[in-house]
Amino acid sequence: MAAARLGLKCHIYAPEADSPAFDVAARQTIAAYEDEAALAAFARDVAVVTYEFENVPAATAAHLTKLRPVFPDARALETAQDRLTEKSFLRGLGIATAPFAAVDDPQGLTQALKTIGRPAILKTRRMGYDGKGQELIRADSDTGAIFRGMGGQPLILEGFVPFEREVSVIAARRQGGEFRAYDICENIHENHILAQTLVPARLDTATLQKAENLARRICAALNYVGVIGVEMFADASGGLTVNELAPRVHNSGHWTLDGAVTSQFEQHIRAICGWPLGSTRRHGKIDMRNLIGAAALDWPALAGQEGTALHLYGKGEARPGRKMGHVTRVTHEK
Ligand code: AMP
Repeated sequence: MAAARLGLKCHIYAPEADSPAFDVAARQTIAAYEDEAALAAFARDVAVVTYEFENVPAATAAHLTKLRPVFPDARALETAQDRLTEKSFLRGLGIATAPFAAVDDPQGLTQALKTIGRPAILKTRRMGYDGKGQELIRADSDTGAIFRGMGGQPLILEGFVPFEREVSVIAARRQGGEFRAYDICENIHENHILAQTLVPARLDTATLQKAENLARRICAALNYVGVIGVEMFADASGGLTVNELAPRVHNSGHWTLDGAVTSQFEQHIRAICGWPLGSTRRHGKIDMRNLIGAAALDWPALAGQEGTALHLYGKGEARPGRKMGHVTRVTHEK
């Protein structure tokens, strides 16, 4: 929709026949990520390729890269797809992360727990989101059972970070290095799922600046093109630990649709098309809430509420834990 507003036509490629993007895009291909003939026909039809979630197989991105520019590029995608690669990349830049170790077998878990200590979080290296594919290991946890529940795939053990707040930086970079960040978002999770985003984050000015600078360094190191979400933990003394990189528009940036001059979606399109980046200026104080599962069924009341911008994603069934939409309230500051 953001691309259409700029006069651009989108061709959506998705394996599912009911992808919500099909409802609003000019052209569509329904085919598997491994279907090289369909990928080639798709690539021939477009000028530039991007993706809206990071679990597109790296081989699909690599195949498309031979035919058309793909942004964010294969390195950014591979870095963000695997928590071990991601944390090693950040460590290489000298950026603080939770202590971590790769875990491939029960002995490896015992060994990693000795160095990292408890509490710790065992996560799948790939495909995890919204708390899926992760287990907290407490002092009295049965680690054998936890490993058996998650084993059979590459894992990473992370030390538990005793954070005060979770924040994210939504930023964009285009080829040549122009970089713009939105004001830092503060994120409140319920059951590991983002429930609410407040902007600006309740951090002091120096810490806000530090967060933006971290995102800038990460983007520069990846020669990044597109919008990125950088999730961080902030401790009480202003220390920041980077948790995760999202090589795409991010849920904590959805407020920009109603609360900023340029939305993150438009900013992403601008960045991948090599356009000048848009203004990230905020219209006021932001309170964005996700509509998770049955909360979306309240839509008639939300639709009638003064000052509330309602977004519904057209996902059909409101299953528990499923992000069905969001609402944003912008309070204009005097
Ligand atoms: P993730 O999938 O890595 O974004 O984790 C989902 C949520 O789990 C985060 O937003 C945090 O609330 C929590 N979490 C993840 N990793 C850690 C950690 N190392 N220490 C403390 N909390 C964590």
